[in-house]
Amino acid sequence: MRPLPRPTALSRPFWEGCLDGRLLVQRCSSCGHHFFIPSAFCPRCLDTDHKWVESSGRGHVVTCTVVWRPPTPAFDPPYTVAVVRMEEGYDMFTNIVGAGPEAELIGTAVRVRFHRESEDIVLPFFEPAAATGRRP
Ligand SMILES: [Zn+2]
Repeated sequence: MRPLPRPTALSRPFWEGCLDGRLLVQRCSSCGHHFFIPSAFCPRCLDTDHKWVESSGRGHVVTCTVVWRPPTPAFDPPYTVAVVRMEEGYDMFTNIVGAGPEAELIGTAVRVRFHRESEDIVLPFFEPAAATGRRP
């Protein structure tokens, strides 16, 4: 079984959102910046006042690679890891599903697709949004 995240006091709202089928992100109450990974302060203005808000779950692939030799046998190759830039402007490091290893994904519009790994953990992966999904 793949190694799973262990929610902390800081990240627990994010993981609870995933369990509920909602992609949550922190939004700074001072400057409005959306940020991920979970942090006690805004990386832009350092304010500690923030709210968890629901993300659109949509973005596009900034960069990606196909893993053929995984770090442990717990992962099933080939699989694609990617940086996805969300509509709200923050980046997520994630897996792309629903596209083969030959797919050209950079610039492709993607949307979140939740994948249950255990009773307590649901991971947010991403899949190509539509045939018209490429950004200019
Ligand atoms: Zn801020």
